[in-house]
Amino acid sequence: MAQIIDGRSLSEKIQLDLKNKVDMLKVKPGLAVVLVGEDSASKIYVKHKERACEKIGYYSKKIELSGTVSKEELFKVIDDLNEDDRINGILVQFPLPGELKLLENEVIRRILPEKDVDGFHPLNVGKLFARKNSIDDDTLVSCTPRGILRLLKEYKIEIEGKKAVIVGRSNFVGKPVAQLLLLENATVTICHTRTQDLEKESQQADILVVAVGKAEMIKASFVKEGAVVIDAGINRTENGLVGDVDFESVKEKVKAITPVPGGVGPMTIAMLMENVFKAYLYKS
Ligand code: NDP
Repeated sequence: MAQIIDGRSLSEKIQLDLKNKVDMLKVKPGLAVVLVGEDSASKIYVKHKERACEKIGYYSKKIELSGTVSKEELFKVIDDLNEDDRINGILVQFPLPGELKLLENEVIRRILPEKDVDGFHPLNVGKLFARKNSIDDDTLVSCTPRGILRLLKEYKIEIEGKKAVIVGRSNFVGKPVAQLLLLENATVTICHTRTQDLEKESQQADILVVAVGKAEMIKASFVKEGAVVIDAGINRTENGLVGDVDFESVKEKVKAITPVPGGVGPMTIAMLMENVFKAYLYKS
């Protein structure tokens, strides 16, 4: 029976540590979240982020814009937040609705790199990929990948020399996870929709990280006995929230696994909160 990797309690612990640090500060770190449109999942994510700010004691600002906002208005909001000294981190909740989705890359570039707490700006991405070792610097790194690495480290899962297989190659999850694991000296394979035999590739993994956005796609036959499985997926189904991994069957076969909910999701929030603190420290 697998060890269940508990992201919820680690996330709580990280947020409590941050609260203790923030309690001692006169000027509190500040996070601005921009929500465009009415997407219900985005609203939930934004609410979680606001709650975390409140718990830690950050200054937080939520800006809600209509789904039909113009590019100029949206950019004006970002420019104002870039200039606002109370704000250390800016997060525009993705996906943007409708045609605005096409602007996501421009939106990312509009946010000052030092306030880019999502770690999506090309400067931060470039710095991550140019790193030669895992030593942390002032780079703001994408939250979900950092959360995954933190879970592996907290649970003392050996990474060096191990074979890591990442299913999914998005800029937000798959690729940065691969780079973080590479920096920890794993041998990394990245799989995607054109991978010829996904089942065979994923069976090679000592550490299998899944970020595809397909409910319970990874079955027990995809995993090696004794592997560690990290499931970043969040899929809303009629049976509630499920991951990209078929948890019930896979957990019988592996050494450790993250549940959904309660695994990677809460860690993403904790890492966002850490990134805000980092942005604050580097500004001061
Ligand atoms: P994207 O849709 O951007 O990327 C999905 C990736 O999975 C793509 O690279 C795609 O390949 C690959 N893929 C899709 N279907 C298959 C398949 N059948 N076989 C092999 N590869 C496949 O998603 P994200 O990376 O943004 O998110 C992935 C999941 O993680 C989602 O469920 C999302 O909700 C969740 N997520 C969770 C977060 C958290 O806080 N826990 C944060 C961010 C995301 P190709 O490139 O070839 O199209």
